[in-house]
Amino acid sequence: MARKNCVYCNKEITTPSREHVIQNALGGLYESEDICCPECNNYVSRHIDAPFTKIFNPIVGAIGNMTKTHNKNSLPPYSGKIKYDGQIYDATIKAGKVTSCPALSRKLRCDISKLPLEIASYDFDLDNTTFETGLAKIAFNYALAMNVDLKLLQHGLSVTGSGNNISKIEYNYPLVPFCPMNPVDTILELGTPVELFHNLILFSQSNQLWCYVDLFNTFQYYVLLSDKMPAGTDVYHNYTQTLRKIPRPEDFEIFSPKDAMIYAQQYGVEPTMNPQELATRVKNADLNKPALERLISKKSEYLSPFNPALGQYGPEFLIQMMRSLSCYFTTDEYDNEEFIKENFRIWTPAPNGDVLIPYTDAILQATNANQDILKQYTTAKFNKLNAYLLGKTKR
Ligand SMILES: [Zn+2]
Repeated sequence: MARKNCVYCNKEITTPSREHVIQNALGGLYESEDICCPECNNYVSRHIDAPFTKIFNPIVGAIGNMTKTHNKNSLPPYSGKIKYDGQIYDATIKAGKVTSCPALSRKLRCDISKLPLEIASYDFDLDNTTFETGLAKIAFNYALAMNVDLKLLQHGLSVTGSGNNISKIEYNYPLVPFCPMNPVDTILELGTPVELFHNLILFSQSNQLWCYVDLFNTFQYYVLLSDKMPAGTDVYHNYTQTLRKIPRPEDFEIFSPKDAMIYAQQYGVEPTMNPQELATRVKNADLNKPALERLISKKSEYLSPFNPALGQYGPEFLIQMMRSLSCYFTTDEYDNEEFIKENFRIWTPAPNGDVLIPYTDAILQATNANQDILKQYTTAKFNKLNAYLLGKTKR
């Protein structure tokens, strides 16, 4: 069902223009052609997408394949903290190299490019409307791409001006930051190695329409798109894509069966000692659009009751662990698991009991009772991302 009119200016769309649901600069692959006219698309990409995607430059800079180029000069610069002589300084970084650090240059009065500077962390500026707007736009676009009636979303959209003179577009939808509310989610988020992926889940729950937006498996928010869903509406859509760095075929270096195994596991293909054959297999594998099921499996060693890391938690955690496992997975008599993705990030076991409650309710209750849990989670998540990015750029 193609939309005929632009969602922003209401002009008839005569020339289709491609709009990425998740911004192209963030590696988003999913496109929709019937959201807006070329003029509004241009406005949105300059005034909403460009400042929003800049926030993620440290990640884009570290995983080069997203820029669709291997030229290091075209990677975006970003800001971060560097360490020199035991002190921390603000700096500008590009392709893992410090390009400027005014405070240190002033202090030492020398060319800092020769100094052994260590990158300590990257900056992500989230406390601003640019971030919230970009995030809400992704949710809005995904809902439209999934054929949600624009009328249900209109209340949160504000467009100033019309036609070719649009001066402002705002997306005013309430956001709820994600925080894990059960042991399975705590382990998935904090107890597993980093795997960068984007995940969108659009779902209805009673009269509400939510979109869970997870970018780079670190920036995780629920966007409330509507609280006037007609009774009996049942919406569920999920989009997941990984953002692995895919080496060019000539980059495959296979000296031993172990190398072949590592590549094979990384790309989910059958191992082979032949680099050309491996390149072909990787090329043909659907790497960018894996199902959510491939990322989240009960068979994962991390969710196993034998995971030694679980020993640090008390018995209450383990009871909740069993409850949340049965919220997310069914197991049949042959021990085949089935991932219940319609529950994932949507329902969670109530703190005491087997009943499932809406995830956003659980987050709001828990964070109202204790603001620190969200701060602690976000800090842990950013530390994990930073450690991963630092590992990438050091190589
Ligand atoms: Zn338009």
